[in-house]
Amino acid sequence: LFLRPWQFIKGVPSMEFLPPEGPAEIAFAGRSNVGKSSLINALLAQKGLARTSNTPGRTQELNYFVPAGHSGEMSDLPEMAVVDMPGYGFAQAPKEVVDRWTELVFDYLRGRVTLKRVYVLIDARHGLKKNDTEVLDLLDKAAVSYQIVLTKADKIKPPAAEKLRHQTLQAISKRAAAFPDVLLTSSEKGHGLDAVRAAVLTAIER
Ligand code: GDP
Repeated sequence: LFLRPWQFIKGVPSMEFLPPEGPAEIAFAGRSNVGKSSLINALLAQKGLARTSNTPGRTQELNYFVPAGHSGEMSDLPEMAVVDMPGYGFAQAPKEVVDRWTELVFDYLRGRVTLKRVYVLIDARHGLKKNDTEVLDLLDKAAVSYQIVLTKADKIKPPAAEKLRHQTLQAISKRAAAFPDVLLTSSEKGHGLDAVRAAVLTAIER
């Protein structure tokens, strides 16, 4: 499934533009620059699929990806869709941009029955920040299953990465909707990708 060609089908600025519900959806969220596009491209083994953008917060859209050959329309539903959620936490974001982000994301989390899990990406150099815990609060409130993935593990030493993994596991242990495992990845080195793929496959079968 992951190694098949994938394609972008649409950017969704608000709920009425969502594709028909059907395929199991897996969404990816994270602060801008956390390495979300890189991880999606690495997981789907396709460079340049999710754009790696240096313009934080430019797109306030849910970007939909499906295996190539499917339109995503009712007559042609794929078995799975990947949703790239707009990045958050960029500095100097006007309040209206943050409010619009929260509205779009919360509507989506609350309204999407076929959303199986959200992968929340955290930079392994920084750990959980205030913005991240606010997003985890939103996920708990919406009762959507989520799992934390630490990114850019190649930028720190393995013992430091392992320590952060344990701290993060501790930090989420009392959260209602958190999956009790934290994954460590490097898109650059290709580390930890199979563990994320395996977790995603388990999540879509639930
Ligand atoms: P996004 O804004 O979350 O989509 O982040 P990007 O995927 O565009 O990545 C932001 C920056 O981090 C880019 O310069 C990437 O090359 C870099 N980056 C992403 N993943 C990794 C990684 O695993 N290791 C290293 N060293 N750099 C990474």
